[in-house]
Amino acid sequence: MSEDEPAFEGRRREAQERAILRAARAGALVLFCDFDGTFSRRDVGGSLAREYLPELRAVLQERYQRGELSAWEYALELFGDFDFDAERLNAFLGNIELDPGAHRLVEWCRMRRVAFQILSDGFDFNLDRLQAIHSVKFSYSANHLSFEGGRWKIRPGGRNAECGCGTGMCKRGVIAKYRVDHPEAYCIHVGDGRVSDFCGAEAADLVFAKGSLASALRAQGIPFEAFENLHDVRSVLERTLQRGSGRRPLGSRASGDFQR
Ligand SMILES: [Zn+2]
Repeated sequence: MSEDEPAFEGRRREAQERAILRAARAGALVLFCDFDGTFSRRDVGGSLAREYLPELRAVLQERYQRGELSAWEYALELFGDFDFDAERLNAFLGNIELDPGAHRLVEWCRMRRVAFQILSDGFDFNLDRLQAIHSVKFSYSANHLSFEGGRWKIRPGGRNAECGCGTGMCKRGVIAKYRVDHPEAYCIHVGDGRVSDFCGAEAADLVFAKGSLASALRAQGIPFEAFENLHDVRSVLERTLQRGSGRRPLGSRASGDFQR
């Protein structure tokens, strides 16, 4: 964003708000949400690796930093054949908490007819289990985890050779496919990670970011809305829709919404 051009920035935000309201009226709003560190407080894979595979993780992180491994190759080296059976994993997942605004965001999307989908570079087994633990339901795209003799067998959920992310589940790819199937869609992406969320953020119409994703977007001059937890995301979107319902004039600058 060009901070020396506030008038341009104001117009961009007003256009953004009009596009959101138009999509909302057409039932074409979709919210893609990262899981680890965004919908959940902690990163499941990162926490597992720090606790149970600290030495291997340190070696692989160095190799990743040197560019010797893609993000998926890193995951495969780290978790392929991981000796950690379903029972132990279930016990570990019992300690994974969701973001304080997670339940209400899902409920808000249902009430407001906003499609909601988790996009995760983590694993389907964990997402299924965490939905049951926390009594929440969502559709998702993620990598695959099964067990063989108590050891992990993992497969990518959607690699994309055309994207630089190198992950097993390219979020740009999912959003691009969604647009083909829903040409009117206005795509919102919520995330926290530079590696797995950046391409999804680039592909989206509106981005909510924190953590290393926020730093990476700022460095590239890509506009985004900062957030701390999912209550913030819901509040900004709800106020935008309320302004569109005529309670406050569209383009009002008094709200403080859509400020970085
Ligand atoms: Zn990608």
